[in-house]
Amino acid sequence: MLEIKNLHVKLEEEDKQILKGVDLTVKAGEVHAIMGPNGSGKSTLSYVLAGREGYEVTEGSATLEGEELLEMEPEERAASGLFLAFQYPVEIPGVGNMTFLRTAVNAQRKARGEEEMSAGDFLKVVREKAKKLKIDAEMLKRPVNVGFSGGEKKRNEILQMAMLEPKMCILDETDSGLDVDAMKLVSDGVNALRDEGRAFLVITHYQRLLDHIKPDVVHIMAAGRIIKTGGPELALEVEHNGYADILAEVQ
Ligand code: ADP
Ligand code: MG
Ligand code: MG
Repeated sequence: MLEIKNLHVKLEEEDKQILKGVDLTVKAGEVHAIMGPNGSGKSTLSYVLAGREGYEVTEGSATLEGEELLEMEPEERAASGLFLAFQYPVEIPGVGNMTFLRTAVNAQRKARGEEEMSAGDFLKVVREKAKKLKIDAEMLKRPVNVGFSGGEKKRNEILQMAMLEPKMCILDETDSGLDVDAMKLVSDGVNALRDEGRAFLVITHYQRLLDHIKPDVVHIMAAGRIIKTGGPELALEVEHNGYADILAEVQ
């Protein structure tokens, strides 16, 4: 599904190398977690995959089902099935949540050469998915994320993910200060969308989140590289011993 090879990234503005050779392969149906000390480049990795400005790829590749992501515009990445949920969802005053979702869904369908969803069909689907996620109809009418509580924003993010039916979902939860309820929302959302045709990359430093999500593979990132890969037990090791032992091991 997602194959990252020898990815090197520097800041555009400064001569600062942030990613120094990231290798990562995520197969369809799998859930991978990335953990790692603050400043190791976890968020940068997700920003680069999303196509955010300000970063320069100096070496390496990242493909989604064999297609080079790094050469695509951000919208093309979304259309090809990439979804990124970020720590701080943007507020869009004046744009109703429902309108936003419908525009996003139809833009994606258009980019895939599919027909637009009719207003009636869309309404049916969005209501059904919202209900499953315990999102009330009122929230669908309000402007996107404006005045939403932290929990509502999380819920909305999961709803966006459910509506777009992406193939590769990347969630960066690193510094969001997820409380227990929000953690449950995210993990329930991910678990509900787990599917053999879909993969997840969950970036977190909360081992507790991984108690609920149960990743297939756990990676530890430090200083711009993935330094260790293992099963869920690796997250527990970090929980008990911190990163020091792992860092010492690879030096
Ligand atoms: P993590 O998510 O693992 O905490 P980040 O990807 O946020 O790490 O950051 C990696 C490193 O790159 C840090 O040293 C951070 O300060 C630096 N960095 C990332 N983006 C920028 C930026 N736009 N300007 C300056 N430094 C940045
Ligand atoms: Mg950080
Ligand atoms: Mg981060």
